[in-house]
Amino acid sequence: MRVEFTGQGIYLADLDLWLDPHHRQRRAWISHAHRDHAGAVHEEVYATAETLALYRIQHGGALEGAALRAVPFGQSWELCGARLTAYPAAHVLGAAQLLVQWRGLRLLYTGDVKLLPPLCGRPTETVRADRLIVESTFGLPIFHFLTREQARERIVAFARCALEEGRCPVLLAHELGRAQEVAHVLCQAGVPVAVHPAAARYLPVYAEAGFPMPGWDEWNGSALPEAALVLPPRFRASVQLPRRRVRIAYVSGWAALDNARARTGAEELIPYSDHAGFEELLELVEATGAREVDVVHGYTGAFARILTLRGKLARAPERPRPEGENG
Ligand SMILES: [Zn+2]
Repeated sequence: MRVEFTGQGIYLADLDLWLDPHHRQRRAWISHAHRDHAGAVHEEVYATAETLALYRIQHGGALEGAALRAVPFGQSWELCGARLTAYPAAHVLGAAQLLVQWRGLRLLYTGDVKLLPPLCGRPTETVRADRLIVESTFGLPIFHFLTREQARERIVAFARCALEEGRCPVLLAHELGRAQEVAHVLCQAGVPVAVHPAAARYLPVYAEAGFPMPGWDEWNGSALPEAALVLPPRFRASVQLPRRRVRIAYVSGWAALDNARARTGAEELIPYSDHAGFEELLELVEATGAREVDVVHGYTGAFARILTLRGKLARAPERPRPEGENG
């Protein structure tokens, strides 16, 4: 099977199918709704129903005329003589790995993926493959993340403690994925929550998918709420957070780095991610059984070398792509 790694995305020429392309294409697989994977509108899109629901919120009227094909998990469909199947990836809601079976070859494209069960969404299914295309956002041995149980405990304890002190707990969390997970665990614990509009717009899709968030409010941005505030990091600099009236936590895979405090101004670092940590990534690669591996995002060169030492035929194809802090 011809797999082309380009600046526009990954192209499966035999199927005329792009994987997470960055610009408009005739036919695309969208693994999940983060902007660096779902930032463009295409003529024909294959994705899970949950991903399409999030994609519609992002692109609205621009999708008019596009053929959006909702793909159920675990049910195969045919395309140009290949058999394709989506499996859960436990990244943001709806995230899916794509298995392509073609002339006896099993090719697996993980998209962004984690192995530990997420706070919201389906657990990952490991899939056997001959050839693997895997991400490596956190493909260095320094990255280890909390389990969902540990993360839940840390998030709720941090928020309760700040509220008891009479301060506003501010949880910096990526607007799609972590923000909804943080809102969900706080709502479930009975902690009042206000959510920045950029993240709030996705909450109904999560609730619809079985992760309810009773009692949350959308933050109007004018004054600190009498509740925990869920704020995407990209708005941190533009929002007034008086030091003596807030406590700030950063919920992200990047919170595992020493410089996270200085970079975000957070006093509490909660290293919980919707990506696999290093050991999880290795485990995932081994579980697929694939001998041939292409590493496509993050610490690609280093992770490919580590896989090579473990006996894989591993490569880090050159492929410039937009970076987004979505760890
Ligand atoms: Zn992602």
